[in-house]
Amino acid sequence: MTSETVMTPCVFCGRNATKKNSKGQPVCRKHKDKKPKEVGCPECGMPMKLKEGRYGYFWGCEGYPQCQKTFQIKALVEDEEES
Ligand SMILES: [Zn+2]
Ligand SMILES: [Zn+2]
Repeated sequence: MTSETVMTPCVFCGRNATKKNSKGQPVCRKHKDKKPKEVGCPECGMPMKLKEGRYGYFWGCEGYPQCQKTFQIKALVEDEEES
């Protein structure tokens, strides 16, 4: 592994993702069996999907190109739930 590799944050905790879940979302080992994260667009209400861009993954609205709302993964990371 080189330091050039873009680190993809886990969609749940923002730590480095090493796996993908059933929906192709980057997740860390701890969250790989968690239910895939669902994110709704605050602008238009459509679901948001993970997309891969040149700087790594981000959430993009399904209403694209009408709606161009995007989020960094880290912007939508929630605090760890203890269960
Ligand atoms: Zn995680
Ligand atoms: Zn939208």
